[in-house]
Amino acid sequence: MQTSPSVLILGGTTEAYDLAAALVAHGVSRVVTSFAGRTKSPRLPAGEWRSGGFGGAEGLGEYLRAERFDAVIDATHPFSAAMAFNAAEACAQENTALLRLEREAWRPGAGDRWTEVDTLKDAATILRREAKRVLMAVGRQELGPFVSLDDIWFLIRSVEAPEPMPAFKQYELLLSRGPFDVAGERALLRDKRIDMIVCKNSGGTATQAKLIAARELGIPVAMKRRPPRPDLPVAYTIAEAMAWLKLR
Ligand code: NAP
Repeated sequence: MQTSPSVLILGGTTEAYDLAAALVAHGVSRVVTSFAGRTKSPRLPAGEWRSGGFGGAEGLGEYLRAERFDAVIDATHPFSAAMAFNAAEACAQENTALLRLEREAWRPGAGDRWTEVDTLKDAATILRREAKRVLMAVGRQELGPFVSLDDIWFLIRSVEAPEPMPAFKQYELLLSRGPFDVAGERALLRDKRIDMIVCKNSGGTATQAKLIAARELGIPVAMKRRPPRPDLPVAYTIAEAMAWLKLR
């Protein structure tokens, strides 16, 4: 790796922003953050940024070749299924160093009432049997498996409104962006009389408060496990990523 490498960050997460800020502050010669382009007005990172898919592993390979990056850091969300594999393939082909940066997964502790599932369809099966009032803390594009559950009332929490809004029979849409705190989450779960939470094992602190509040209140959680990842070096902190880049 060069003394001041040029780095492409595959972004869309808090970790990607924090890494871009750290690399720019360190004086790294070129830092480009890439967004998928799903969010209408993304928070802009330090350094350069670009938006939109590359066109699969092949397109990413062409981009890496044209822009001559020394390293790629895949800081996409733990539930982004495709990008990690595209990055692994493109970087292997272009002989570009690749690191995965991701927050650690949450683990259930004493008092947690989690059922871990591989798909949200499995979560919907659990809800059908066991729930009446559900906090949905999954992506706005992932509500499909739940829409036919007419006997359940859903509190759908999302950063942006689903477009189009799926035809839920009973629901309330709560537009809000984390971080959330335990007191607020406890009050929300109580006020809305929530008896089940559906979420994904995103990890990190910004959205963990609902799990702490659920544990306190004895509320069960249907937790979607993370998808598989290519076998790559992984950093769990910005400092580890900087060390991998030989910047500290
Ligand atoms: P995905 O399944 O891994 O990616 C689908 C396609 O979107 C990829 O094949 C790629 O298109 C494009 N893409 C994804 N991330 C990109 C990036 N950083 N820069 C340029 N293109 C990108 O990912 P996803 O679940 O659709 O998530 C899309 C974005 O939202 C990611 O950046 C992710 O970090 C962010 N995000 C996702 C979640 C989640 O729960 N999935 C949550 C929060 C944030 P091409 O094949 O055309 O290159």
